[in-house]
Amino acid sequence: MNLILLGPPGAGKGTQAKRLQDNHGIAQISTGDMLRAEVAAGTPVGKEAKAVMEAGQLVSDDIIVRMLSSRVSQPDCAKGFILDGFPRTVPQAQALDRMLADKKLTLDVVIELKVDDSALIERIAGRFTCAKCGEGYHDSFKPTAKAGVCDACGSTDFTRRADDNRETVVARLDAYHRQTAPILPHYAAQGTLRSVDGMADIDVVAAQIDAILTQVG
Ligand code: ADP
Ligand code: ADP
Ligand code: ZN
Repeated sequence: MNLILLGPPGAGKGTQAKRLQDNHGIAQISTGDMLRAEVAAGTPVGKEAKAVMEAGQLVSDDIIVRMLSSRVSQPDCAKGFILDGFPRTVPQAQALDRMLADKKLTLDVVIELKVDDSALIERIAGRFTCAKCGEGYHDSFKPTAKAGVCDACGSTDFTRRADDNRETVVARLDAYHRQTAPILPHYAAQGTLRSVDGMADIDVVAAQIDAILTQVG
């Protein structure tokens, strides 16, 4: 099963993708996580991406498409993959169509998480992540069971993203509406697009996604 989770920053893509990876054994591919790893490692790609990401803008299609193309061929994608944060522009969606055709892979479904802009700002402002295992949390909506301790691995080390601040979020939402939302008609025309109510609780959103996967799988 190969699918795309599509939605604005903070919509819940990473939260749901991680859950699908754990429950269904399909690989989560987050271009944002891949870029943050490049930045942390100080690679040429990371050096080019850093300022763009901090400004809340999109990294060039060239870099992203090259990065993704080698990723989907890795062994952990054998049972399928969940694209989280890709494609984000019409040229990326077109490049993905070509890439899948070349590799003789199919796209089973594109799931759009619909969330109001006003809710996204609150979600992003409260987001934090376990530095050791990558489990995602939220100050109000998904706190750790025990304050300051990761539920998944027991670590007490957490991180907040440099771009998760109010000013940058406005730029990221603008980039979503101007550059990413225009890919929705591309998938609607292909007949692969399904939308879920991303405003619901995390478990309710997960149940909506599972119902769709049962239908298309
Ligand atoms: P994205 O990957 O789309 O940017 P995340 O999955 O990182 O979004 O979610 C953003 C923040 O909102 C995280 O702190 C997460 O714990 C929280 N969150 C995710 N889904 C929901 C939901 N349905 N309701 C409330 N908070 C949520
Ligand atoms: P979010 O979880 O808030 O949706 P991501 O972690 O997916 O954010 O992405 C963080 C940043 O990385 C984006 O604001 C953008 O600068 C860059 N980025 C991630 N994926 C892409 C992509 N497919 N195309 C261009 N830039 C990207
Ligand atoms: Zn952890």
